[in-house]
Amino acid sequence: MFVKINGKDYEVIISKKIGNRNTYLRVKDDLKIYVTTNTFTSNKEIERIILNNQSSIVKMVNKMEKRCENNEGFLYLGKKYDIIYTSNEGITLGEEKAFVNREVDLDKWYKKQASKLFQEHLDACYNRFSRKIPYPSLTIRKMTTRWGVCNTRDKRVTLNLELMKKPIYCLDYVIMHELSHLIHANHSKDFWALVEENCQEYKKIKKILKE
Ligand SMILES: [Zn+2]
Repeated sequence: MFVKINGKDYEVIISKKIGNRNTYLRVKDDLKIYVTTNTFTSNKEIERIILNNQSSIVKMVNKMEKRCENNEGFLYLGKKYDIIYTSNEGITLGEEKAFVNREVDLDKWYKKQASKLFQEHLDACYNRFSRKIPYPSLTIRKMTTRWGVCNTRDKRVTLNLELMKKPIYCLDYVIMHELSHLIHANHSKDFWALVEENCQEYKKIKKILKE
């Protein structure tokens, strides 16, 4: 069963036992409302009890959200933030903590940031590239096996959304790598020489990306 409080749906998990004299409401860390009551209490009655106790439930939810620090952390441009769930909109990055709304789709959020950031870096890399190349279009996609792809026929560079989790110099290396493919469509010696010409630290960065 679900109840709506302040426009938000909460799942209600009901456990009825003959011996229970009273009805108890609790909010656990999954942010569901747990009701223990006796077998004589109807679901209609439970809903009424919940709605009569809305303000204390909201307090319990807020408390639980604060407590639920996700230790997996939130990665943004090579920095790890502790996740603090809040009811504020979207994601706010603090010094060491990321304040995240539970409803936020993380990949969508990354994609939004990436569409601006990746384009800016593509433009900057393109402008300082050591050779004359056609200006490529940009596609951003989540990929599992590659950091970037260059379609030399369509002059299109595809960058892996996961680069949002890596230090910014990784993004620049991958862009320089893909731009170099517009001159050499292979991984020959000449290709790597051109990558090095545009990204001197490329060997170190390649290793970091492999981790
Ligand atoms: Zn390549």
